[in-house]
Amino acid sequence: MDSESSQPDIGQLAEWDRHYVWHAFTQMQDYDPLVIQSARGCVLTDIHGNELIDAVSSVWCNVHGHAHPLINAAISEQLNQVAHVTSLGMSNPTSIRLAQRLAEVTPEGLEHTFFSGDGASSVEVALKMAFQYWHQRKDPKPAKNTYIALGSAYHGDTLGSVSVGGVARFHEMFEPLLFNVIRVENPNTYRLPDGISQEQATPYYLAKLEETLKQHHEQVAAMVIEPLIQGAAGLIMQPEGYLRGVRELTQKYDVLLIADEVAVGFGRTGTMFACEQESVSPDIMCLAKGITGGYLAMSATIATTEIWQEFLGDPVKTFYHGHTYAGNPLAAAAALASLDLFELEQTLANVRQREAELKQLLTSRLSDHPLVGDIRQRGLVAGIELVSNKQTRQPLDPALGIGGKVCLAAREKGVWLRPLRDTLVIMPPLSINQQQLTQIVEAIAYGLDQV
Ligand SMILES: *Cc1c(COP(=O)(O)O)cnc(C)c1O
Repeated sequence: MDSESSQPDIGQLAEWDRHYVWHAFTQMQDYDPLVIQSARGCVLTDIHGNELIDAVSSVWCNVHGHAHPLINAAISEQLNQVAHVTSLGMSNPTSIRLAQRLAEVTPEGLEHTFFSGDGASSVEVALKMAFQYWHQRKDPKPAKNTYIALGSAYHGDTLGSVSVGGVARFHEMFEPLLFNVIRVENPNTYRLPDGISQEQATPYYLAKLEETLKQHHEQVAAMVIEPLIQGAAGLIMQPEGYLRGVRELTQKYDVLLIADEVAVGFGRTGTMFACEQESVSPDIMCLAKGITGGYLAMSATIATTEIWQEFLGDPVKTFYHGHTYAGNPLAAAAALASLDLFELEQTLANVRQREAELKQLLTSRLSDHPLVGDIRQRGLVAGIELVSNKQTRQPLDPALGIGGKVCLAAREKGVWLRPLRDTLVIMPPLSINQQQLTQIVEAIAYGLDQV
């Protein structure tokens, strides 16, 4: 067969894409194909040859840019050794080395990595691990069979992670299939309750949590939280000291803390992990998205020795859970190379410098715009919330799809963005340069003027 002539042309690819590929979180009726042929650094190139800055890191996962020579080399070197080795009772040097490195770079006490393939699975694993721990530890507490989660939480799309999730528009449909969790009010520094000032926010939300813990702690296996920023909810920021307080309260009431760093891990907020900013060591940490630098599917659930040792002994104490491609060596090779790059390229120093530049750009170019209600940023994660009334903070009517229209217009200026409804998201690869940041903000300014 002539491989040349069997290649679909551009029009046919688009047609096949609309018909044969069922895209994630996408209304297929309205889907307008955007097909990427290649990418270098922070720039994507589509099949027409158009270049677009990847302003959201291919949905929050790319870290050092695309096609980085060091990560590419690590993957092909591994490919020459072996592409896959199961984690069911056997191992490979690359995944072993990665687990050791993760213990080194994550907060104090996290030692034992259970690998899986995506963020939702890493949360699923954490939930089951926490549950089983209480049931079989030396001093068992089998009544602990529920969880505390925040309002508007997002932890992935499997039924367990959806159960602890709380984004109504994603999760409502599946309500009858979910298990019950105890929901606490999520902090939101832009929309504080009436009569609560910024200074009162942390004590207010922590008091709410303590009330809940006091009442229910005997039934609660774990509290699960996205540290510092609730991502998919719209980049909702927690007030300073809240995470620290959550750690202290969960300890006081004998509840495990699961930190879902799937979105914020690996440097996004300016430190390797968001928990570091409040000197917090969770009992279990979930990592995914950025773990391989954004190259391959991999996630990790890392537990303390205290938890891990309660699974030792009798066969019944085994953690009966696993994913076929868990700890895949190609992904592990990419992850190790990514960790090396944090040192070689001084990635976190770049984040701190770019963070200040981005803050300045957003303030000078966007804060006066009548649609811009709030600009919130931590490290290289920035949310620009569009509202219909700046004073009352009245949200836009989501049916108008303004956020999406702004992003579509920004594409004319060579920038690819994906909003969370009417909150625009800037979350570029950490290797972004100043000129590219300027182009992103200018494209948003242009998009805002178009709508
Ligand atoms: C994206 C995300 C997940 C889910 O990760 P997947 O790899 O898409 O399953 C879980 N938690 C948080 C905080 C996320 O942002």
